[in-house]
Amino acid sequence: METTTELNEIRNRTNRRIFDFENKIKNLKKAIADDDDQKECLSCRFVTGVRMGLAKISSTNCKLCQKEVLSGSTDLNHLCDNCATKNGLCVRCGCNKNEVKDSIQKILK
Ligand SMILES: [Zn+2]
Ligand SMILES: [Zn+2]
Repeated sequence: METTTELNEIRNRTNRRIFDFENKIKNLKKAIADDDDQKECLSCRFVTGVRMGLAKISSTNCKLCQKEVLSGSTDLNHLCDNCATKNGLCVRCGCNKNEVKDSIQKILK
């Protein structure tokens, strides 16, 4: 059987998980309500989460215009700022930001 210390640890972990998750959903709903437009889509911001790449300068080419895209991490953006902004796409994953937002909005209802 688990000791009291282990049970407390599980309790704490569980509470932290619930707290983190509630915050995530709250921020997600707020971002939708405020219509706050960022370079990254809601999925990249709230679902994919923190970038896991190594902190080193890396480069790739924009998937639309082939321009070189520099990044401070090995987790590279899909598009350059210009192409992403011009086409309403997520700079990180290259998806259509508004379609993602509309779908998430429907799911949350
Ligand atoms: Zn581009
Ligand atoms: Zn994205």
